[in-house]
Amino acid sequence: MSRATQVLREVWGYSAFRGPQAEIIAHVSNGGDALVLLPTGGGKSLCYQIPALVRDGMGVVVSPLIALMQDQVAALREAGVRAEFLNSSLSRPEQQRVEKAVRAGSVDILYVAPERLVKDGCLELLDAATIALFAIDEAHCVSQWGHDFRPEYLRLSLLADRYPDIPRIALTATADAATRKEILARLKLDSARVFISSFDRPNIRYRIAERDNARKQLLQFIREEHAGHSGIVYCFTRKSVDETAGFLKDSGINALPYHADKLHETRDEHLSRFIREDAIVMVATIAFGMGIDKPDVRFVAHLDMPKSIEAYYQETGRAGRDGLPADAWMIYGLADVVQQRRLIDQSPSGEEHRRVAGAKLDALLGFCETVDCRRVRLLDYFGESSGACGNCDNCLTPPDLWDATEAARKLMSCIYRCEQASGFGFGALQIIDVLTGQRTAKVEQYRHDRVSTFGIGKELSALQWRAVIRQLVALRLVRVDYDRFNVLRLEVDARHVLGGRRMLQLRKPSEKVARPRRPRRDATSNRPPSDTLGGRSGDAFQALREWRKGVAQEHGVPAYTVFHDATLQEVARRLPVSLDELRGISGIGATKLDRYGELLLAVVRETAASTR
Ligand code: ADP
Ligand code: ZN
Repeated sequence: MSRATQVLREVWGYSAFRGPQAEIIAHVSNGGDALVLLPTGGGKSLCYQIPALVRDGMGVVVSPLIALMQDQVAALREAGVRAEFLNSSLSRPEQQRVEKAVRAGSVDILYVAPERLVKDGCLELLDAATIALFAIDEAHCVSQWGHDFRPEYLRLSLLADRYPDIPRIALTATADAATRKEILARLKLDSARVFISSFDRPNIRYRIAERDNARKQLLQFIREEHAGHSGIVYCFTRKSVDETAGFLKDSGINALPYHADKLHETRDEHLSRFIREDAIVMVATIAFGMGIDKPDVRFVAHLDMPKSIEAYYQETGRAGRDGLPADAWMIYGLADVVQQRRLIDQSPSGEEHRRVAGAKLDALLGFCETVDCRRVRLLDYFGESSGACGNCDNCLTPPDLWDATEAARKLMSCIYRCEQASGFGFGALQIIDVLTGQRTAKVEQYRHDRVSTFGIGKELSALQWRAVIRQLVALRLVRVDYDRFNVLRLEVDARHVLGGRRMLQLRKPSEKVARPRRPRRDATSNRPPSDTLGGRSGDAFQALREWRKGVAQEHGVPAYTVFHDATLQEVARRLPVSLDELRGISGIGATKLDRYGELLLAVVRETAASTR
């Protein structure tokens, strides 16, 4: 057995490496530089933590988020690793204690904020220590084109010059080739080996539905499928963050708001509670999420459409890091498309930037409206080919297609006729009223009950017509003119449909947003096993979670750093009676077995006694 595998078993209690971990760890342990691109939840941390323990000296980890460093260190300490951090949150005496430990060679892994690392004092401290490796986490922060750009990261290239013989490993979950190149160049990782693995997240179930009543849909989704789970709800504006969080709270869900505007203190407190406690729903703007490595986020819900597939992938990727089933759930409607297009067109950036942003939005719209496997589409966007996944809404409940050519023609001629009759255009509401033959005041005011398209579309409901409009907008056959009161206009290509030269297959507009129908035996397949454990095991799992909560509070650490849900589930399933039986369970390493083994057995014994 290699030394690395030994460490994996003893310290983490895991039986085998995942994907490319073994190869990366061997390469870095042998002194090689590396750039590692692994999806969120792919297990990047072990790629530097294990070489840091295997090699002589201390591993230095650069991590951008001070708020999270403490938890990363706490998790390592729980596993018996001598980990420390240096950042601006430490008091002077604490900092001196850490520095002394570094000098004494009694630190295995040191986390440092980038701005701190490049200071003379810190570099001198490192000069005095033996260094096993440098790990640069969230390495895409060096990219000036990304949203997460951090100027301090640019200075990290000095590590290459100052410590040419010490291996450096940069890690990120950002997929695209341009960012990859930028990282290699800016960090001077010229001879680094690049490790790229599949970006698939097979445990995430992708679902996208039409928006009907956003709050009601969200509440139903959480209540029916994720009661008692941790999750993230993304909203576009700060206002809707506050309103949605308030609404969920009033409905009995443990929800907290988070956005850049919030007072720093409440914001940090909300972040810390989300990470530490079980079952909190965080309602947030996209400012929330980077570096959050909470493993048991069971769902990510989007109430508004993100602006690109990259953003969608990154945000949904925060679900299910622990590999257990998780949901990426989104609802969207015509308003999102209009809002995003407007933002792009009105942005002060140059023509080229607007063109790129427009193309990205179109790709996302295509993804939303696709009738094929969503995962195939998603991975294809990142240059990976794959087969239908069986774990997205379109695979589980293939959408019904219908020949919408006739409906599209009716709609288009209605847009045309109303504009012709009045000399100016109208929005979706009026067009739908005319199509479905409603004699509203506005219809009568403009005499639209006299146009030839009045009442010719009664076979579809207003909601169904909205879906048709949205798909035609996505297909760029109809445009929403937001400079003029969101008036609908025909695009040039509309004439091919009107002229009968182009047929349209659309997704059947459904009256209700159905949940994916699943085969009966599979009805609970997207629930983490915690929800499916029954009888004594179910009781034991609940008791173990309660026990974990107490330990976490006592130690002042997030619950998941004590044990993951998956580990407690396995304990509850096996109901062990001896330390030997605990030993083989994933997530129970030597330190944790020593520290908690007897306590776990006691909890299991007690549930056995009380349910007898
Ligand atoms: P990333 O940083 O790539 O998002 P993490 O390093 O946080 O991923 O790992 C995700 C989760 O998977 C963590 O909870 C980690 O403990 C677990 N994990 C990583 N590698 C293994 C492995 N070889 N066996 C079992 N669990 C693993
Ligand atoms: Zn699929």
